Amino acid sequence: MQVLKHSDGSVSYTILWPDCSVDEEADSYLRVHEGSGSQKTYAYSLVDHMRWRIQEGLTTKTITFLDLKRYMGAVGAHVPIPFGRPWRVPPQRPYGGSALQVAAACLKGFYLHNCARLGVNDELRAALDANRLPTKADRNRSVVGHVKKAMPANPLAPTNPPRRRHPKMLPDGAKPTLRGAVNTARDAMVVQWLSDTSLRIGGLTGLHLVDLHLRDNAPCNECKSPHLHVCHRQTNLNRSRAKIKQDWETVDGVITGGEIYRVSPAMISAYFQYMTTEYQKYATGHGMLLIQLAGPNVGAPWSADAARGMLRRAGHRAELPGRIKPQAFRHQITNDVLDHADGNPMVAKVVGNWASAQMVDEVYGHPDLHSPEFVDALETIWGERE
Ligand SMILES: [Zn+2]
Repeated sequence: MQVLKHSDGSVSYTILWPDCSVDEEADSYLRVHEGSGSQKTYAYSLVDHMRWRIQEGLTTKTITFLDLKRYMGAVGAHVPIPFGRPWRVPPQRPYGGSALQVAAACLKGFYLHNCARLGVNDELRAALDANRLPTKADRNRSVVGHVKKAMPANPLAPTNPPRRRHPKMLPDGAKPTLRGAVNTARDAMVVQWLSDTSLRIGGLTGLHLVDLHLRDNAPCNECKSPHLHVCHRQTNLNRSRAKIKQDWETVDGVITGGEIYRVSPAMISAYFQYMTTEYQKYATGHGMLLIQLAGPNVGAPWSADAARGMLRRAGHRAELPGRIKPQAFRHQITNDVLDHADGNPMVAKVVGNWASAQMVDEVYGHPDLHSPEFVDALETIWGERE
């Protein structure tokens, strides 16, 4: 590959043969992308493809759609199935989802451009020009804002297009690192509860003990597994308020309604660790879950701002990049569940509750917390099963 630096400071890319002659087909195609951000990535994609094509003895005139599918399989393969042996071997890494998307876009463009220009291989052109309607999974995902709205019609693209990594997710390895960096059972519990649910920080710090239904078959009859209810209250002493105003009520001392979140075994164990030590020692009878552990107001309810500060400082002590914010945990688990569920519409529906509860009310009605697909995704992420 050759980088050309122009007198105006701009840079463009083309592909050279070992004898320094320009590859005419690649050059003609890359010129279409002159000045765009795609030119460089397409050039990298093409270099790899050209090497493969030479080894296979193929040209623009002779290559078939199946050959291109075979190439896509070979560059993406970690193991030698189902498309023969991997083309990219160490130290080269197989293409991941986004590199495969780039390669698919590049190869489609390259062959449409050159087949037309050279007047060859109409069969390949026809195969590449196929249109695709959005699938049900595409639509479900786009509703929760996780895929681009337009569906590119590219028959070479991988069948499960990758979602863009949410820019506000946790840094790699943040959860275990943070658990090691906190100083109290309360803070360990906060990290665990944010890790295993999509609770907002205001919802978490606004919890009362009566909102927790941590045993199976709770008397509310709304969820048979351990769960909690996030209830909108105007009067919390620490001014924490649930963002979502779902109706709730207390009947014979049992909370029903509100926003229901499933609770993991690790959350329950962190809860007991906290309740039997710090809570027992300092709590002052207001009934809220999270309390201050030091200062003049020890035992009083702990605020969302204080929780934010705790996370920020723990992230700093753990030397994690950036500032650790509570909502990053939400983005992370939403992403993890969608990854695991692989676009399953039933799961996208539940996750929709997390992405935008308001929208879910409008679009889906009540989410199904017990669909087998959702339970499977959640329990896997909780580490409860392989
Ligand atoms: Zn309940």
